[in-house]
Amino acid sequence: MKTHLLEAVTANREPFLSHSPAIITPLEKLKHFRLDVDADHLAWITFDTLNSTANVWNETTLDEFNVCLDVIASRPEVRAVIIRSAKEKITVAGADLKALRLSSVKKLEHLIDLGQGTFNKLAALPMPKVALIHGACVGGGFEMALACDVRIASDSEVTRVGLPETQLGLVPAWGGSTRLPRLIGLAKALDLIISGRQLKGMDAKRHGLVDAVVPREHLENAARAMIGKVRHTHRMNEPVLLRKFIAYQARKTVRAKTRGLYLAPLRAIEVVTRAPFMTQPKAMELEKHAILDLAFTPETERLIDVFLRNEETAKKPWPRGVALPVHDVAVIGAGIMGAGIAHWLASRGHRVLMQDISTESLARGLSRVRELLSEGLKRRAITRLEMRQTFDRLTQDHTRAPLAHQQMVIEAATEDMALKKKIFVDLATRTSADTILATNTSALSVTELAGAVPNPERVIGLHFFNPVHRMPLVEIIVTAWTTDDVIATAVSFVQRLGKTPIVVKDSPGFIANRILMPYLLEAVRLHDEGVPVTLIDEAMLEFGMPMGPMRLLDEIGLDVAAHVGLTMTAAYPERLPKCETLDRMIAEGKLGRKSGEGFYKHPQKPSIQHWSESPHLLMDLVQERLVGLLRDEARRCSHEGIARSDADIELAMIL
Ligand code: NAD
Repeated sequence: MKTHLLEAVTANREPFLSHSPAIITPLEKLKHFRLDVDADHLAWITFDTLNSTANVWNETTLDEFNVCLDVIASRPEVRAVIIRSAKEKITVAGADLKALRLSSVKKLEHLIDLGQGTFNKLAALPMPKVALIHGACVGGGFEMALACDVRIASDSEVTRVGLPETQLGLVPAWGGSTRLPRLIGLAKALDLIISGRQLKGMDAKRHGLVDAVVPREHLENAARAMIGKVRHTHRMNEPVLLRKFIAYQARKTVRAKTRGLYLAPLRAIEVVTRAPFMTQPKAMELEKHAILDLAFTPETERLIDVFLRNEETAKKPWPRGVALPVHDVAVIGAGIMGAGIAHWLASRGHRVLMQDISTESLARGLSRVRELLSEGLKRRAITRLEMRQTFDRLTQDHTRAPLAHQQMVIEAATEDMALKKKIFVDLATRTSADTILATNTSALSVTELAGAVPNPERVIGLHFFNPVHRMPLVEIIVTAWTTDDVIATAVSFVQRLGKTPIVVKDSPGFIANRILMPYLLEAVRLHDEGVPVTLIDEAMLEFGMPMGPMRLLDEIGLDVAAHVGLTMTAAYPERLPKCETLDRMIAEGKLGRKSGEGFYKHPQKPSIQHWSESPHLLMDLVQERLVGLLRDEARRCSHEGIARSDADIELAMIL
């Protein structure tokens, strides 16, 4: 039986508590932690941040954690320490990024010292330490777990471990860059730190990040059973030459991927390949210098700002109206997008009915869903059981069956206004009056579509991007009729799908396509003017785009791009003249990746080009023309008030 430490010690009149009621012990002041000692002399530290669903490390929580450690250190009878979280989905989400972002150099240096000192103190406690992980245990959270002897994770879907600091332009600097290689070896640790990958329970075990994976309800029993049993044997004995080779290879990979535009992964390579071989004080110094050098660069500041903005947008409810729950969804059209949406919805627990015009198109859609699930299984993103359960949530139908049970219908049929209107008029007769009717149109007018049905207030655009399972953005397109209840429901629905909703006023191309199309069409024009395809792409990769515009066109599909382009040309003829080249290529059957040829032949591995001096000048010109167009169109969107804020426009484009 467990008792609160204060009660236990008061009852037993333990010596470390003052007998005088006038003196307040440090434990009584704790707001975010609880420390209990059970009858077996196991100390349980429970992290439970007051008034928050998350636990994060900041000066206050680190100070309180220190108090717990000091009390434990003064109690020789404590046999082991077990650290756990009281939160539903988070062990520790890492450092408090809002506080970190506002820190001065001096404050940040203090925070780094405090974190390092705390986790070193934890590691130095003489008894076994166990970290229980359920939900996110990442960044500084996992650095705390690394200072323990044993890590046990839950097998829950919400459990994630890893050190994603480089994704935010930082490096793990609370001992993580030193301890992870000591736990799993240099090469594996470097790969995880540079990529910032976060692993689910079983994957984390396979990589050696945790020692056991058990159902959440068994975590505490597993902790009791494993105390003192795990001894890590990895010794940092990689010879200097091997270390240098590992660092060289890693630098090569990072440079090829980021073109040297991101400093953090390069700095991480330096720290991770040196710190584990140093004495503790020197290793901590190296980590600290690296993070202090990185934290105040404009790249890191922007990465953190965008991260915080995305977190907020992905969670914040729509300020007005009532969000109703959505369990059952019908998806109309089982093509690329319909199948992708159905797959994602079913994976997230929704019951999905897929409808299309023929059994053949439905069969194609279903086999696409099966492919997506198999890919997920191969990547170990899902288990065989999850695959079966997801598949079981899908039904299909090619008749005009009534849609009385569905709270939402998502139309993803061919991009054609007349066809979509017909579908919507039909849907209005088959659904109940409050079913939300959503369209996945890329650029057609949602207002025109809404005008075709008797109650247009329930019509909304839900613009998912291709491939649905990878793209985090969903544009929510609202018309003058759309009610706040419908918007609130759509926002909450998208958030629960794990995507970021950006609410946009209905206008041609919404945000993403509106800004992207002029850029893509200008890239084609540059090509028409004689600039090689690879040079255009190379220029934009050098600028920092994850993919060049010509390759992006091939991925989107030239027919899809031309179709969106047509809508945009009709809306803005003076800025976007019709693109003859795309039409010609489509007529020749060159649709991009899906037809085996577009601007590139597919499949084709990206090759690294070495350009002479003069193409570099040309690349500058390409960048100037293309980036200028992106900037100008984003400004127009801002002036027209299409999004709720400029930050939303920026976030939509980044995502
Ligand atoms: P697709 O051609 O792959 O699939 C369209 C499907 O709609 C086909 O299976 C077709 O049989 C079905 N269909 C046609 N008429 C129908 C009807 N009356 N009832 C039911 N089903 C019908 O097209 P897609 O690429 O999946 O695009 C679908 C929608 O999503 C379009 O509006 C498109 O603009 C939009 N979109 C596409 C992408 C993309 O990259 N492909 C991205 C975002 C949005």
